[in-house]
Amino acid sequence: MSASVTASSLDSALAADLATLDRAGLRRVLRPTVRRRGAHVEIDGREAIDFSSNDYLGLASDPRLASAVVAALRDRALGAGAARLISGDHPLHEALERELAEFKKAEAALLFGSGYLANVGAIPALAGRRDVIYADALNHASLIDACRLSRAEVRTFPHLDLAGLADMLDADRGRFRRRLIVVDGVFSMDGDLFPLCELTNIAQAYDAWTYVDDAHGTGVLGEHGRGSAEHWRVESQIDVIMGTLGKAFGVAGAYVTGSRVLIDYLLNRARAFVFTTAQPPALAAAASAALRIVQGEPELRARLGRNASRVRSALGVPGPSNGHIIPVLIGESDATMRVGAELRERGILVGAVRPPTVPLGTSRLRITISAAHTDDDIERLLAALAEVLLRS
Ligand SMILES: *Cc1c(COP(=O)(O)O)cnc(C)c1O
Repeated sequence: MSASVTASSLDSALAADLATLDRAGLRRVLRPTVRRRGAHVEIDGREAIDFSSNDYLGLASDPRLASAVVAALRDRALGAGAARLISGDHPLHEALERELAEFKKAEAALLFGSGYLANVGAIPALAGRRDVIYADALNHASLIDACRLSRAEVRTFPHLDLAGLADMLDADRGRFRRRLIVVDGVFSMDGDLFPLCELTNIAQAYDAWTYVDDAHGTGVLGEHGRGSAEHWRVESQIDVIMGTLGKAFGVAGAYVTGSRVLIDYLLNRARAFVFTTAQPPALAAAASAALRIVQGEPELRARLGRNASRVRSALGVPGPSNGHIIPVLIGESDATMRVGAELRERGILVGAVRPPTVPLGTSRLRITISAAHTDDDIERLLAALAEVLLRS
């Protein structure tokens, strides 16, 4: 018998859940920002300086990216029309994959529609029922979902606890077919880095594969912006590296890089690649333009590092001294939202992050720095923070 759910019973059940969220100070609402110009946006009809985006190099509103899209659109490269494996593959996709592989010093790259899709596509393709995945406790939600979807045994080790990871690997010797260690290169809410040298040593010692989600490292870390693996000088030793095109690259989409065999395998087995329409080729053109800027303008990374150091040292936040994700712990979600709103009234946007994005009791401001911030923008952030944090 098919149970039919009336709209009103659905609505009342969901409204009750929303009310619970509301009472806990955890209900979320959309707040459209318009007219992004570098780090300056318009929100609620007012100008604000954005310290909450992941547009680390200020490329999201770069006219060169927009021009690349316009040029591709003149050739009507908008809708791909199908999945890549059917008839949706376009020379602009292939060109971007070639350029990304070359940039990352990898044999090959594969594009995905987003970072979320890359993770939920690649990880279940690499590990399944007879396998085990070791995951850092603070891994991104998309990695957590990917691990669940894989149906592998998932073992979560405490954040950055390498000894704990090694103990788990040791205890599991011989019990599983494949072993995959999955971590963020740069943790999205804390801004700290996973020590990849130790990771590769442990993985080699215990014969495990390594998967690094470098959503926040790509384009930013390393002398050439190749990301966490360049920063730690382990580029040839990580088995699978995922990076996004929606953060430092300012566009949308994501990719996985690794060996030719890995990419051929994912192209066959990653369901979030196989069963989805290819992203608009025009966006691949924009990402190619972004990649040229990432490679050709190292001064953007230098400026980002200087801006971040300045804010970090003024606030006394520990962590990598030029880390571009700066958490300011507040604790309760109500207080965090209040501080966020007071900053917004002063024309400063910061992330006000609460559960389930971060663990209970660790609500925080998440301040993100961009190369597009001017000295004056930074002064205004620090002045507003001093005022608001003193009062709260
Ligand atoms: C943002 C993010 C993702 C998801 O990337 P999208 O392209 O936004 O879907 C995955 N992993 C981490 C660590 C992220 O911060």
